[in-house]
Amino acid sequence: MKRLLHIIVVLCLISSSSFAQRKILKLGSKNNTPGQLNRPKLVVGLVVDQMRWDYLYRYYDRYSNGGFKRLVNEGFSAENTMIPYTPTYTACGHSCIYTGSVPAVNGIIGNNWYDPELQKDVYCTEDSGAHTVGSGSNAGEMSPKNLLTTTITDELRLATNFKSKVIGISLKDRGSILPAGHSANAAYWYDGVSGNWITSTYYMKQLPPWLDAFNKQKLQNKFYAGNWNTLYPINTYTQSTADNNAFEGLYKGETTTTFPHKLSDAIDKNFDLIRSTPFGNTITLDLAKRAIAAESLGKGTVTDFLAVSCSSPDYIGHQFGPNSIEVEDTYLRLDKDIESFLTYLDQTLGKGNYLIFLTADHGAAHTPKFLAENKLPGGIVSNKDIAANLNKAIEQEFKIKESVLMVMNNQIIYNKPLIAKADADLDDLRAFTVDFLKHQTGIQDAVDITRLSSATLPEVIKTRITNGYNARRSGDVYFLLKSNWFDGGATGTTHGAWYPYDSHIPLVFMGWNVKPGKTNKTHYMTDISATLAAMLRIQMPSGCVGEPISEISNQ
Ligand SMILES: [Zn+2]
Repeated sequence: MKRLLHIIVVLCLISSSSFAQRKILKLGSKNNTPGQLNRPKLVVGLVVDQMRWDYLYRYYDRYSNGGFKRLVNEGFSAENTMIPYTPTYTACGHSCIYTGSVPAVNGIIGNNWYDPELQKDVYCTEDSGAHTVGSGSNAGEMSPKNLLTTTITDELRLATNFKSKVIGISLKDRGSILPAGHSANAAYWYDGVSGNWITSTYYMKQLPPWLDAFNKQKLQNKFYAGNWNTLYPINTYTQSTADNNAFEGLYKGETTTTFPHKLSDAIDKNFDLIRSTPFGNTITLDLAKRAIAAESLGKGTVTDFLAVSCSSPDYIGHQFGPNSIEVEDTYLRLDKDIESFLTYLDQTLGKGNYLIFLTADHGAAHTPKFLAENKLPGGIVSNKDIAANLNKAIEQEFKIKESVLMVMNNQIIYNKPLIAKADADLDDLRAFTVDFLKHQTGIQDAVDITRLSSATLPEVIKTRITNGYNARRSGDVYFLLKSNWFDGGATGTTHGAWYPYDSHIPLVFMGWNVKPGKTNKTHYMTDISATLAAMLRIQMPSGCVGEPISEISNQ
């Protein structure tokens, strides 16, 4: 009997291992010639701007089977993926995902920062040496030159001796340029003045004909004509606050924040409005499909990479907040757009021949009025007021006028040349500032960045500040707001803190060589590029500090 059992067990093992092998071969794609390196035809990065991790499940029951649900069920979900630095802003998120690195190393410490050497406020992707291609505006004076390390997309180009094609697509310049890296074939973003998708002379001299043709369609007008009503009857949106409330921001020209949102007045007039509607996602993914077809992505002998970011959820989230029907409807619609995109990838490249990952650049806080109404902690501060009040206090104590240039990215930026001229002791000034900030409404704690290691703060917070601090671009004193407090206005919301609502992001890999499953172990945004490098067997990006998530892969 024992012997019979033994035989049965052995037979089971043989059949399951040969099944596993067959499965691997099936997943391994047509590139899988024995004795040759196996890679997917195409890697697709799908970054949803401001997608909190909980949105995967908050609306789960209403998602279709082919969108978010398919990614979670056919893919591998790292359920506890955190952003390992603060502040959690868009440019930092896109840079971290694709460099596997943190602002301390990759240099992208915010969407904007004050450059003490240039003595001016700098935008993350600005480049006065680059010119707009595709419109008459200055929206194309951009490049990745402020990004200090390579991206996984750069490394793929290097690994294939530049045979791999890399293209970035996003409504936001920073959502396209930073992911596509330094050596990209192209990065395309949206110009709200002309309504065209554009690029810069950093990449090319003129738009490809297929993009000119896409621009000529002016798809925005078609969506504007249909206005924005809810996808399903509005009384079925039970996950959100009632439509009429005091937490939401108005569209220009509207007198109420309720559905239907009239968009038809924007036809041929306000092309920028498309960003703040769910149709911005539809157009972005339509363009992604068009790029795959026109550039034959995934059809060559080496792996190509398409880095897409859907930016509209961020604009809508800022305006309406996470508990709005607008956000719920945006995700239900995005789910359908993703379903259509995945179906397109299946049809064009074949299931299992492409590798896709879904993640986000950051999350978002609930709106303060909504929190207050429900007896939850939260509130608003004003960076401008903090700067003005601090300037007054420093003037009284040190007799120096306007010593604080600005408050941004949760940091105090001093006018260093002025302070040097006044012969004030910078250490004393920092200590005074820390003490001052600790007494301000909404501020939890403050720290002189040169004394961070001796500050009495939880290690997790110290680590995230350290990772977000770049010696040549960051300010002198860092402050932490209380949970759910932020610099903002009377309505809507924002992000930027280390707290989980801002830093807990979805991370799902699906397709080529991905073993379906999930883990609740803590992983970090920096692990995304490390995992891709391991799966593709290419070098990690130059500043990568992440670790591969080994459970994801069949390899
Ligand atoms: Zn944002």
